[in-house]
Amino acid sequence: MIDNQRIVIIGGGLSGLTLAYLLSKRNINAIILEASARLGGRIQTVKGKLQTPLELGATWFSDMHPNLLSLIRELGLQKYPQFSKGISLFQTNSFEPPQKFFAPETEMSSYRLVGGTQMLTDTLAQKLPSDAILRNTTVTAIKEKETSVLIETDTDRIFEGDKVIVCLPPQLISNNIIFSPQLPGAFNNLLPTVQTWMAGSIKFTLEYDQPFWRNDGYSGMLYSHAGIITEMYDHTSFEEDKFGFTGFLNGGAAAYLQEVRKELVLRQLGDLIGEKALNPTAYFDKVWTNEFILAGNQIIQHPHQDNGHPLLQQSYMNGNLYFAATETATQYPGYMEGAVIAARSVFEKLMEGTRKRF
Ligand SMILES: Cc1cc2nc3c(=O)[nH]c(=O)nc-3n(C[C@H](O)[C@H](O)[C@H](O)COP(=O)(O)OP(=O)(O)OC[C@H]3O[C@@H](n4cnc5c(N)ncnc54)[C@H](O)[C@@H]3O)c2cc1C
Repeated sequence: MIDNQRIVIIGGGLSGLTLAYLLSKRNINAIILEASARLGGRIQTVKGKLQTPLELGATWFSDMHPNLLSLIRELGLQKYPQFSKGISLFQTNSFEPPQKFFAPETEMSSYRLVGGTQMLTDTLAQKLPSDAILRNTTVTAIKEKETSVLIETDTDRIFEGDKVIVCLPPQLISNNIIFSPQLPGAFNNLLPTVQTWMAGSIKFTLEYDQPFWRNDGYSGMLYSHAGIITEMYDHTSFEEDKFGFTGFLNGGAAAYLQEVRKELVLRQLGDLIGEKALNPTAYFDKVWTNEFILAGNQIIQHPHQDNGHPLLQQSYMNGNLYFAATETATQYPGYMEGAVIAARSVFEKLMEGTRKRF
């Protein structure tokens, strides 16, 4: 069965959803094909037992991110500053007490989204027609036709688009999607070298019924070279009625079972901020190496390597195939700001093409 669609967007992360939203504002319908059962990609907010929004993916942004801030405003969402008042801890090794410091108040603030970062992708999705998003649909092949492009999936559906925009990390495209005819050699060689931001990282989050650390004068901020937690921040809700932490674990902890990671996290926190830390109402963590971000590719250690490369800005297949994930952005690649920039950039190219045609 072939479904005819004018514009097909592959990937329902922030870049794909933003692009579909921008097109919908011009009354241009697009369909999004998303491999996972979940939208949002690297944005994932979960709720604890007490319904605290807890981030497993993207969390922070700043005044340096005007495209993201303007999208947030336009969608009627709200931001609030990351809490950092009080004593912060720096643990250099496990056999010495941690060093205490105060985060400078003059530093530019980083923000969080009220209700959780997923409010952003959920709100974008709500703005689209209900049949504009197909989940559980993995794109496996893209084939050039005379004036259009065929998109094959792992379901029995094949799509035909006038324009196709691939909104996936380039590294993921390289071993998951077959292009025919093959794309230029230089482009094929580039794809596996483009670093996928945060691939391989482990984010954890904890929920508590009380902000006991704030009551004891701590900021909840921790940096450590000694324990499983390498970085941690207060994760209290905007309303200040739900409490928790979020942060990153040492990459090596991917080798442990989740229950072992949880035990090591609680032990480290118990030692550093007291035994009240031992009884969270929820613990979650996520190792970002699955088929929706890395799919067996190597983790590239060099940050942002080949991100925003000129070959990622070009169109292929006779001007009908484009690429637009955060890694393609020429500014702030890897970040949510980059995802919005990438979506805007392809949107402008598509509009330019429309203007030329009419
Ligand atoms: C742990 C972590 C922490 C982060 N922290 C921050 C932060 O604090 N601030 C910040 O600005 N950014 C942060 N980021 C980065 C931010 O999440 C990304 O920049 C942004 O979400 C990327 O959006 P995207 O749409 O470009 O890509 P993605 O979110 O990766 O979306 C790609 C989508 O494509 C889907 N897909 C994959 N393969 C296929 C296929 N074959 N067919 C169809 N669909 C497919 C995936 O399931 C996914 O939904 C973080 C990321 C992680 C993982």
